[in-house]
Amino acid sequence: MASSDTLFGRILSGEIPCQEVYADDLSLAFRDVNPQAPVHVLVIPREPIAQLGEATAEHQALLGHLLLVAAKVARLEGLESWRTVINSGAGAGQTVFHLHLHVIGGRPLAWPPG
Ligand code: 5GP
Repeated sequence: MASSDTLFGRILSGEIPCQEVYADDLSLAFRDVNPQAPVHVLVIPREPIAQLGEATAEHQALLGHLLLVAAKVARLEGLESWRTVINSGAGAGQTVFHLHLHVIGGRPLAWPPG
């Protein structure tokens, strides 16, 4: 489990400001400070799970909820095509160890991503 003193834990507590896009009892969505596309939003659970690789069966409903929030964010942002990415582990590029889904769109997105 992640501790609540990660960067995103401090955003959740209000200690660090963010540009909120959506919030509910289980999650928060806010704009990435270093956007990789015209729309780049991060969706995080309020529960501090460090990375997807540490999620367990007890997180099943929460993980499904986060995917639905990602789709809601895409709709709110007016995106028809978009991508969601989860980096799990430092070797995959994860830098903040509080689970987060990237929602990226607003420009053509190549596949494979490179
Ligand atoms: P990761 O590399 O862990 O998958 O993604 C972490 C993301 O957090 C990066 O895209 C990075 O730009 C973003 N980020 C880092 N610090 C801050 C911050 O203080 N505020 C916001 N809104 N995003 C941040």
